[in-house]
Amino acid sequence: MAGLVAAARLRELGHEPRVLEKGTRVGGSMLLSSCVVWRHLEWDRFRAECPDGDEPLQRLIWERLDDALGWLESLGAEPVWRDTENPLTTGRRYEASALTRVLADATGEIELETPLPNDAEPPLILATGGFPGRLARERDLLLRANPWSAGDGLDYAVARGAGTTAGMDEFYGRAMPAPPARIREEDFVPLAQLYGREARIFTDDWSEITPRRVAWHENDLAQMIGRRAWYCVAETNDRIEAARAAGGTVIDQEFGLAVHVAGAVTHTIGGLQVDSEARITGADGLWAAGVDVGGIATGGYSSGLAQALVLGLAAAESIAAG
Ligand SMILES: Cc1cc2nc3c(=O)[nH]c(=O)nc-3n(C[C@H](O)[C@H](O)[C@H](O)COP(=O)(O)OP(=O)(O)OC[C@H]3O[C@@H](n4cnc5c(N)ncnc54)[C@H](O)[C@@H]3O)c2cc1C
Repeated sequence: MAGLVAAARLRELGHEPRVLEKGTRVGGSMLLSSCVVWRHLEWDRFRAECPDGDEPLQRLIWERLDDALGWLESLGAEPVWRDTENPLTTGRRYEASALTRVLADATGEIELETPLPNDAEPPLILATGGFPGRLARERDLLLRANPWSAGDGLDYAVARGAGTTAGMDEFYGRAMPAPPARIREEDFVPLAQLYGREARIFTDDWSEITPRRVAWHENDLAQMIGRRAWYCVAETNDRIEAARAAGGTVIDQEFGLAVHVAGAVTHTIGGLQVDSEARITGADGLWAAGVDVGGIATGGYSSGLAQALVLGLAAAESIAAG
């Protein structure tokens, strides 16, 4: 999302960026997403929900998102909903493949299966989607993201003097059915076990760890449960039936039904430190956008797509301004 937005905006401003994509297809995790591009409705709520995040960057996203959504529409991106259906947030929902197509058309040539080389010419915008692959591997969690985002942008910039933010161990994620459930990319949304607020939660060896309070987005739970846990509820629901159909473990138990779940990483929350023009602190000639940038949702959860859209525009405009 961030790379395509930055490239499309640079083109609009008269530049001819070269766009490199490591994967075999365009769209990164955006293509797999529910594609709700949102912000908190109230500024104070954003601060309260992501209390450890960088305030100037949070303000940039919060203030620029509405205009940025207007820019997407100017490219021909038609929202499927003009609201998020969540009273705490505002934004638009798109059809992910349609949005990817609009952005790819505005970007022009994209070199597939071409990872960032070590000697890329500045100015360079890093937009490699954070390091969910690496974090999932290190913590033995599931990966709920594109398979290519493994920290390449982070490593490239850190090797050139970049600073990193707080929250390098935090992630946005979901509880998913634990193996042996089969989870394909198209199952990432329907198989998310999003009823943890109503569940009693137990570790893999049945110690109860139900928290006193769970956030509306359940991102706190996804991080808390770790590699395996049990969600126990009185009655089944569509998501439990989907887990069962995918081969997940659902057993009858004294509290009702117990579903074996695993924490799954969608994207990392810590990352590169940037200023409000998306310039990477400490590394000349480098910008970062999307979830390669850290420190925005620290301590909570905010929209990765909004971060990609606003910072992609900011990076392109900063480079174009010279
Ligand atoms: C199932 C699911 C549902 C989601 N739903 C939502 C939602 O509704 N709302 C929301 O805000 N967010 C949602 N997200 C998160 C959102 O998709 C990400 O936050 C967003 O895509 C981040 O944008 P990005 O541009 O930083 O990364 P990406 O969109 O992932 O793009 C990163 C790109 O970099 C490429 N890349 C990696 N390494 C290299 C390299 N070395 N060289 C060249 N290219 C490289 C990758 O292949 C990828 O194409 C969801 C994610 C998933 C998986």
